Amino acid sequence: MDSTRSAAESLPETHSEQRNIAHTMALAVAGLALLIVPSYQFVEWQLDQASAEHLWLHAQWRSLVVVAALATLAWCFTHPDGRGAPVVLRLLSLSIMCMMFGMFASDYLHEADSLGRMVQGLIMTTFAVSLVSLRGGRELLVLFGLPFAGTMIGLYALGASLHDVVVTLFDPLMMAVIALTISEIFYRTRIRILVLDEQLRQLATTDALTGLGNRRQVENQIAVEMARARRHDSTFALILGDLDHFKNVNDRFGHSTGDAVLSEIGRILRSNIRVEDRAVRWGGEEFLILLPATGRDEAMAVAEKIRSIIAESPLHCDGHEVPVTISFGVAAFNGESDVADLIKRADAAMYRAKRKGRNRVCAANGDTNADADRPLIA
Ligand code: GH3
Ligand code: MG
Ligand code: MG
Repeated sequence: MDSTRSAAESLPETHSEQRNIAHTMALAVAGLALLIVPSYQFVEWQLDQASAEHLWLHAQWRSLVVVAALATLAWCFTHPDGRGAPVVLRLLSLSIMCMMFGMFASDYLHEADSLGRMVQGLIMTTFAVSLVSLRGGRELLVLFGLPFAGTMIGLYALGASLHDVVVTLFDPLMMAVIALTISEIFYRTRIRILVLDEQLRQLATTDALTGLGNRRQVENQIAVEMARARRHDSTFALILGDLDHFKNVNDRFGHSTGDAVLSEIGRILRSNIRVEDRAVRWGGEEFLILLPATGRDEAMAVAEKIRSIIAESPLHCDGHEVPVTISFGVAAFNGESDVADLIKRADAAMYRAKRKGRNRVCAANGDTNADADRPLIA
């Protein structure tokens, strides 16, 4: 397994992306198969080029694909989230290759005139199936290799000369090699693009120093929470924190120790919130925590817990013991229509905490019982 592949497989985004692509592909391939496969049967019948026995044998192999395509459509419409789509797409592709090899074997055994056209069809099908292959060459080995091996075993059992069969199949075999190569290149290119997309997305939404999310990321999430709260008549809360006298920390211990303190604060925030909460670095030495489905009192309690953890003993950073405190402002959603309005209330509460002496938690004006600030003593 190469690094691109292992990196891609560790990305949850990649898996859902792959499911979505497989879902679209499966719908497209099933729709096309239902149009094309019966049409070929009809045209063969109209042109009167094949004997009744051939027509019947071809119809049997083609019905395999028609059934698989109908099952695929049924699965895709009942699973619009793409669950199982890669497997369904593979089975559909496999049924197409089985149909082509089956018709080839029938024509070969009955020395039909249509054998040449059948080989051409096999070439085109191999290419088409390779293009919808989601896992590159590995997959085509199964989609092409299995029906090919089955055909060889079947023909050998029926007494055919394998040497002659392989000579007849020379073109499709060459095409399979080319298709394997092209499919593998497509696959690797697509995975590389997905990995780069994911890295760009992480860079755009992650703060490099603390590993927390950044302002851009949380603003979108607050907007989503607002819409949710309005629709379900529920609530959520924001905690905005600003380290106290942080300039003094830089002045006394140096900027790199200041950075280490910010990183340690990030760790403390992360480890003291629930998985559904989101802590981000809001700016320089300011942090914001979004708490979905949380009221004012509960958010005040979370802020107070974090405040006391930070204040209770000096942080060990960069070989120094650094005493740090933080002031928090808490605002619960109060029907605001604008993200900025809610943040403004949390910000005002945080500045009130500063004015009242720092190292404390204040609730925003407008929240019920806003004066119930948590007093605290450093
Ligand atoms: P207070 O908030 O309690 O009023 O005082 P303060 O000293 O924290 O306030 P102020 O906003 O005046 O200063 C913030 C300081 O935070 C100044 C700036 O150098 C420091 N700071 C901001 N970002 C970083 C950073 O990424 N690394 C370090 N080391 N310091 C930073
Ligand atoms: Mg500040
Ligand atoms: Mg500050």
